[in-house]
Amino acid sequence: MNVSNTYPTGPLQALDAAHHMHPFSDMKALNAEGSRIIVKGKGCWLEDSNGKRILDGMAGLWCVNIGHGRPEIAEAVQAQMAELSYYNTFFKTTHPPVIELSRMLAELAPPSFNHVFFTGSGSESNDTMLRMVRTYWKTLEKPEKFVVIARKNAYHGSTMAGASLGGMAPMHAQGGLPIPGIHHIAQPYWFDEGGELSPEEFGLQTARALEQAIDEIGEDNVAAFIAEPVQGAGGVIVPPATYWPEIQRICKERNILLVADEVITGFGRLGRWFGSEYFGIEPDLMPIAKGLSSGYLPIGGVMVGDRVADVIINQTGDFNHGFTYSGHPVACAAAIANLKILRDEKIIERVANDTGPYLQKKWALLANHPLVGEARMVGMMGALELVPAKPERRRFAGEAGKIGTICRDFSFKNGLIMRAVRDSMILSPPLVISHEEIDELIRLATKTLDDTHEELLRQGLMG
Ligand SMILES: *Cc1c(COP(=O)(O)O)cnc(C)c1O
Repeated sequence: MNVSNTYPTGPLQALDAAHHMHPFSDMKALNAEGSRIIVKGKGCWLEDSNGKRILDGMAGLWCVNIGHGRPEIAEAVQAQMAELSYYNTFFKTTHPPVIELSRMLAELAPPSFNHVFFTGSGSESNDTMLRMVRTYWKTLEKPEKFVVIARKNAYHGSTMAGASLGGMAPMHAQGGLPIPGIHHIAQPYWFDEGGELSPEEFGLQTARALEQAIDEIGEDNVAAFIAEPVQGAGGVIVPPATYWPEIQRICKERNILLVADEVITGFGRLGRWFGSEYFGIEPDLMPIAKGLSSGYLPIGGVMVGDRVADVIINQTGDFNHGFTYSGHPVACAAAIANLKILRDEKIIERVANDTGPYLQKKWALLANHPLVGEARMVGMMGALELVPAKPERRRFAGEAGKIGTICRDFSFKNGLIMRAVRDSMILSPPLVISHEEIDELIRLATKTLDDTHEELLRQGLMG
C-alpha cells in the first residue's frame, strides 16, 4: 500500500536526528541513515510515514499483546482522566483503579500470589524485587543472605539494578556494573553452548550451575535466583525440559527465593497467564510489565507470593521504597481494560489451542530453509538460528550480528518486523494475530530468508 505521504518524512527525520537521543542505538549511524517514522498502528499492523504497511512481528517491544489501537483502552483512559487523573498511593491513600487492578491480578495469578507492588516499568520492577528480597531476609534476621544469582545473557532491564541483574556484557562494560551482590551463571542455550551434550543433559548441567554457585558463595549468603522463564532479549532461548524442574528443586532445597521475571512471558505470551505456569515453576516473586497494559501506558509491578508478602507486610515495618507513579490511576485503568480484553476474548486460550500451534507448526517448517539451523517457538515467541551450513550448529565467521542485521533489514523492507539478536531472528507478534495474518507473516519471513540467502551468496558469505 503506497498511498498517502501525509507526513513530511525528511524534515521529521532531520528533527529527530537533531534533538532526540535513541535507546540502545548507534546514534551517529542512525542519524546518517534516518529513523523509520511509525505513524499508525491497528491490530497487528503498523504504518510508516511513507504509507508503507508493516506487520508488527515484535508486538512493539514484546508488549502489544492485544494488538494496536483498541478503542476500549482509549475510552477507559479518557474516563479515568476525567475522574481522577493522578493521585499517589503513599501516605495512607489509595484509589479505586489501583484496588481493582490489584484484585484482578490476584485472581489471575497462581493461587499463592495475592499481592502486587506497582512500578512504572519492568526495570523498576526488578529494582523493587531486589530491594524486597534483601528486606525479606533482613527482616528474618538473615541480612547476610544478600547475593542474587542471575544468568549470563539474561535481560532484566536497564536501570542500575536491572542492568546488573541482566547478563549483557556491553551494558556492564559501561562501568560500575554489576553492582555488588550479583553473581552470574551459565544460561541454558543449547544451540550455542550445548556442545556434544543432548538438550536434556545440557539442561541439567546448566541448572546445576546454580547449585555449584550456591556452594561456592555459601547458602547463608544467597538471597535469590532470578531468571526469565524463556530468555527474551537474549535471543528467545527456550530451556531444555529438564532445566526448570532442576532449578525448582535446588531453590527449594537450598532455601533461596525464586524470582521468575515474567515481564515478557506474563499475560499470555506462552498461552498461559504466566510463563511460570507453562513450565510448572513455583516462584516466590514475579516482576511484570509489558503485556500488563499491552504497552498502551507504562506500568509494571512485582507479584509478591504469600511467603514474602507475609513477612514484608506483617514484620518489616516501613518498606522504604516506591515511585511517584506506583499504581498511577490512568495506567491502572489501561491495564484493567487490557486484562478484560485478554480474558473476555479468550485470547490466551487461542494462543494455547489454536493460533499458537498454527504459527508454531509453520515456523518449525522454516528450519528446512538452507539458512536456518534451528527454528524454535513456544507460545508466540520464537527464534530462527541463521547458519552458514547444516546440520552442524556452527556460526558465521566474523563478527556476530552482521548476518542478523542483513536479514533484519530485508525483513523491514519486505514489510515484516523481526528483530535480530546476534545472528538469530526473533519473533513475538501480537497475540491477536489471525490465521490469515500468520500465513502472511510466514510468507514474508520466507521471502526475507530467501533474499538474505541470495545476498550472502552474492557477497560470498555462505561459509
Ligand atoms: C523488557 C524487560 C525488562 C525491562 O522492562 P522495561 O519496561 O523496559 O524497564 C525486564 N525484564 C525482562 C524479561 C524484559 O524483557
